[in-house]
Amino acid sequence: MVNNESTIEKLTGTFSDQLSATESMRQELKSLISYLNLAGTDVASFILNCYREYTGSKPDPDKPLSKKEGALFLHALSVKVRKVFPDVSGENNVTQLSGIKKGSTVFSEIYVEKGALTYPLTNRILSRFPERKVTEIAHYKDIFNVAGQDFLAQKRSPALILAVNNGKRIYDGARPCQNFGHEHFYYTSQVKNCLYDCEYCFLRGMYPSGNIVIFVNTDDYFSDIDAELKNHPLYLSIAYDTDLLALEGFTGIVKKYCEFAADRPELLIEIRTKCASGDVTKSPAVPSNIILAYTVSPDPIARAYEHWAGSFQARKSAIYSSLKAGIRTRLCIDPMIAVIGWNDIYGSMIDELFSEPVMAKLEDISVGTFRISSSYIKRLKKTALTPISAYPYENTDGMCGYDKKLRMEMTEFVKERIGRYYPVEKIFISDY
Ligand code: SF4
Repeated sequence: MVNNESTIEKLTGTFSDQLSATESMRQELKSLISYLNLAGTDVASFILNCYREYTGSKPDPDKPLSKKEGALFLHALSVKVRKVFPDVSGENNVTQLSGIKKGSTVFSEIYVEKGALTYPLTNRILSRFPERKVTEIAHYKDIFNVAGQDFLAQKRSPALILAVNNGKRIYDGARPCQNFGHEHFYYTSQVKNCLYDCEYCFLRGMYPSGNIVIFVNTDDYFSDIDAELKNHPLYLSIAYDTDLLALEGFTGIVKKYCEFAADRPELLIEIRTKCASGDVTKSPAVPSNIILAYTVSPDPIARAYEHWAGSFQARKSAIYSSLKAGIRTRLCIDPMIAVIGWNDIYGSMIDELFSEPVMAKLEDISVGTFRISSSYIKRLKKTALTPISAYPYENTDGMCGYDKKLRMEMTEFVKERIGRYYPVEKIFISDY
């Protein structure tokens, strides 16, 4: 970042006058300037060059553009800014873990709903954190939904809240999510929030709190799944709003789902993860209707944006272990993030991943670029202005992402590269 807030305001003011900008144009210009600044660009030179290119002359305060001309210039500027990507080559984040283990002191506080106190999962979890003071509460929302919480501070040291979910527990699969050809695609979420902190995560835009809620009434979830199974087979994702494997060391929830799924062949469960602990692959009890779906990002991107998740190397090893253990394993290169040199970075990652012959056993591969609903991106920006949240995404019917041309370029690039090693017909591209 090269400029502070007052310089950004000054630049916005100067160029707004030149464009005869309305208030909404001014806000848009400020967003573009903020993004360019976060991406490490020389903002003033960038806009001046663009202005000269577009109008054939340099800005003259005595000859501002008309409002209409200003709006057209702003559009041209935003198209140019969309081609500016952040540089992750110098990032050296070390905030990567490979799963939270038994006895970890990761949680700052533990709250338990009165009604959750007698559940076996509550006892199990509390026994793993004997040193933590437990505060009894009436309802998890009294803590989780309080307005004005500092999401990022809580992510660094979250409180754990144990609760009972008496409301809806199974949902239709969400629009941006891949259904892999399954007609009856649903998801369920026994946990709200995640131990990891990916800068692009929609949870930053979805929840008011960085604390973690675990619903301990697992059997009620199972009853709901059984009720759905009476109507039709089910493809169920159980880890979209969290990373269950990161919590497995003290919850055992994944093991429970494995046991539950074992004698329900009409149920197919996907567990998506960035956890590299590999513990689950050592268990002989992962049934054939469970798919472990590992999300991977190239090392520079994982280091820059996927705080606390397993490193690329650790996730790669976990994928190999999973495949070697005979577990149905999915590879997810989703979300792809556009950074400087993205094609080299993603190409090298794919070459490295597929250097191991066991990758031929992958169930399938999911590929998609970053996308998020327009309401979540607004809250993502409020939580933290970063190169990811500030990028000027294209809004298509409420879904924000890269422009269509770039999305196609990125996904086709990855598809072609994977196709050198793996059947392309088993690559699922997510777009909207
Ligand atoms: S691992 Fe998934 S759920 Fe967790 S923070 Fe990252 S994107 Fe969000």
